[in-house]
Amino acid sequence: MTEPRLGDGSRVVRAGLPPEEPYAPALPGPVFAAHYHLPGDPAHAPYTYGRDGNPTWTGLERALAELEHPGGPAHPVVFASGMGAISAVLLSQVRAGDVVVLPSDGYQLLARLREQLEAYGAEVRAVPTGGGEQYDALEGATLLWLETPSNPGLDVCDIRALADAAHRHGALVAVDNTLATPLGQRPLELGADVSVASGTKALTGHGDVLLGYAVCKDTAVADAVRHWRKLVGAIPGPMEAWLAHRSLATLQLRVDRQAATALSVARALRERPEVSGLRHPGLPQDPAHALASRQMRRYGCVVSFTLPGQAHAERFLAALRLVDDATSFGGVRSTAERRGRWGGDAVPAGFVRLSVGVEDADDLVADLLRALDEADGTAP
Ligand SMILES: *Cc1c(COP(=O)(O)O)cnc(C)c1O
Repeated sequence: MTEPRLGDGSRVVRAGLPPEEPYAPALPGPVFAAHYHLPGDPAHAPYTYGRDGNPTWTGLERALAELEHPGGPAHPVVFASGMGAISAVLLSQVRAGDVVVLPSDGYQLLARLREQLEAYGAEVRAVPTGGGEQYDALEGATLLWLETPSNPGLDVCDIRALADAAHRHGALVAVDNTLATPLGQRPLELGADVSVASGTKALTGHGDVLLGYAVCKDTAVADAVRHWRKLVGAIPGPMEAWLAHRSLATLQLRVDRQAATALSVARALRERPEVSGLRHPGLPQDPAHALASRQMRRYGCVVSFTLPGQAHAERFLAALRLVDDATSFGGVRSTAERRGRWGGDAVPAGFVRLSVGVEDADDLVADLLRALDEADGTAP
């Protein structure tokens, strides 16, 4: 257990590691086991069957608890993907007749989950992340789901104020912390009951692992979420869990570098007349910057903006050399995509979500500006 007062860089390199033992590795390798030697009564056995527990998950779960709520109550549960974690929290907590408040502009699969919740007899109220409409939707609510900053629109909402209001109505509060990562924002410290995330993005950061987790303040909520994982079997493989734990050691290096470069990129894009709707929470001119600077410790690697149409955006993406045209975000290699191609987000045809990697900022800005010139037909 790392000390609550440590800085983030010191915490991430040791988070979740077992106590030092002579001649043992600092981070033990992945444990591949479908079952464990199990003499007698299984009731108090730490490991019985591979769907219920694995020592490699335990290390990663301890690390995530230390990062999401240093020194505070934190019960972590890892999953095979972010959707595994999100579905487990929602579907384990919501009953027929319950009222759930969801973001209308959050991760695109939330709309599909909404249909599922309604099919099970829950009432779902979908409201935008920014603008405070959640307060009016809380009457009778049993669960408030926030996603801040939202993907892909990068709107921000006030976690502490909304959690206080939701708790007055008796609602549980969950925050999707994917975009910020626990180094960017700690929802449990800000009053939320559950911090849920996809570890596929910036947390693991290499674009080679799918992973998810939920860290709950309350044991009973965590038990229900873990039980759901057992029922649906949404368990991470030991190799994925180990790769994720290994990646945490560089989390601070990556997110600091990516956030700094994302800000340089946003500043450069601001100067371009063909760019509209530019959003990045770290940009002082961003409408969410004041709020973001109160609750976030780092602003993330995503910059979103709109080009004058689908064809313009496609020419821009094709002209980029240091940025892959690919979905997802948070990786060491920059990626960008025209979100409209999926059909799930309410965004203009020329809307681009850009994820800034760890390339040199000057190289990346030069590549983006050159691609904008080429897309505009103004290249020499
Ligand atoms: C990607 C993403 C998810 C889903 O995570 P997977 O690991 O792809 O299942 C959920 N929420 C947000 C905000 C995301 O960006």
